[in-house]
Amino acid sequence: MSRPRQPRPSIPDRYSRRFRDLKQEFQQLEYFCKGTILKRMMKCGKAQCACRQDPAKRHGPYFEWTYKAKGKTVNVKLTPEVMPMFRTASQQYRKLKSLLNRLERLSQTAVRHQAKRAQSAYRD
Ligand SMILES: [Zn+2]
Repeated sequence: MSRPRQPRPSIPDRYSRRFRDLKQEFQQLEYFCKGTILKRMMKCGKAQCACRQDPAKRHGPYFEWTYKAKGKTVNVKLTPEVMPMFRTASQQYRKLKSLLNRLERLSQTAVRHQAKRAQSAYRD
């Protein structure tokens, strides 16, 4: 016994459904910050300190949030207590960018498709 097939959604419907789904993902975004979190181990400069010879005995970790603004790199020192907030915010930023890229690709495909249909309708 075979069931009648569900009609597949047309291509434009699939695009608009996917577009709507992706837009909903924006709702789940939390505060975001552009940039990356750097973890640094430092030498202190004291002549007798072990950090001078042994990289494993360097001091730290020290954290920095780094991002670009107007073409310049900005570095902000972070305490270990606040570092996770910036790390989370920078993860959210990457999520935003990825979402935006997916929306852009989908939009471009959908608009091209629309244009092609409009063009062939015009020709017929
Ligand atoms: Zn040292």
